[in-house]
Amino acid sequence: MRLTTWLGVATTVVILGACGAPSAIRTPGVGAVRAQSVQPPVISAQILSPNFDDRKGSPVTAIVLHHTAVLSTAEQTARFFQDPKVKVSSHYVVDRTGEIVRCVPDAQRAWHAGVSSFDGQGDVNTYSVGIEISNVGDGVEPYPSAQVKSVVRLVAWLASTYQVPLTRVARHRDIALPAGRKKDTSDNFDEAYVLKAAQAILDGQNMPAYHPKPVPDGYDPTVQVHTVRPGDTYESLGDDFYDSPAMGAAIARENDHRKLVPGTLIALPVTY
Ligand SMILES: [Zn+2]
Repeated sequence: MRLTTWLGVATTVVILGACGAPSAIRTPGVGAVRAQSVQPPVISAQILSPNFDDRKGSPVTAIVLHHTAVLSTAEQTARFFQDPKVKVSSHYVVDRTGEIVRCVPDAQRAWHAGVSSFDGQGDVNTYSVGIEISNVGDGVEPYPSAQVKSVVRLVAWLASTYQVPLTRVARHRDIALPAGRKKDTSDNFDEAYVLKAAQAILDGQNMPAYHPKPVPDGYDPTVQVHTVRPGDTYESLGDDFYDSPAMGAAIARENDHRKLVPGTLIALPVTY
């Protein structure tokens, strides 16, 4: 018998049976006992956020994927989440390098999904694990292979640990209300690959090859713009693009606090 603790959150007792195949009893979890072959992903850093509250007994039954909408690193995003004023967090942030930073323990309710509904069940934060993926979110910046593979390992491990079927992995844009409010993850994030590769891991197979698209010539990720829609406010744009109304102040500064006129372009900051 071997006792392994992963950052004090998931405690796994692995019992080697007569045939040598490990089975696992997990605490905490959803009470089931099943074969455990998925390795926990490497967590590079733990930078805990105060922005969370209680799941009130709700088990983890969904996984939500986001992009950060900034050029900042995962560590910088985690530091941003440490500010109580921004009122946003996620359980994990996955850097372009593939490094994973943990910001909120799985057992707690992180603040990433906002007003949301998944398969008819509201308040997705209460029953989901949120994963932020470092990417400017313009649909052009590629998601590097190391990053996507870390997302895959993390999703597979969470799916295995909490027995979440991969049909319960969603992009923020799929669950945010009202529909169409959120853009993350961006169109060039290959969610189909993530699900296929996570399934391969759950099936005990190797991940299929991943081929990120090249960066187009002349691409400048520091230039990000938005066409103002009727009803947009700086605060609502902060929430829509960065999952934090507090980022509205940064957008306002970037645009000299000018009045938001529908149909005109405004600049979106690419750092916090
Ligand atoms: Zn999001």
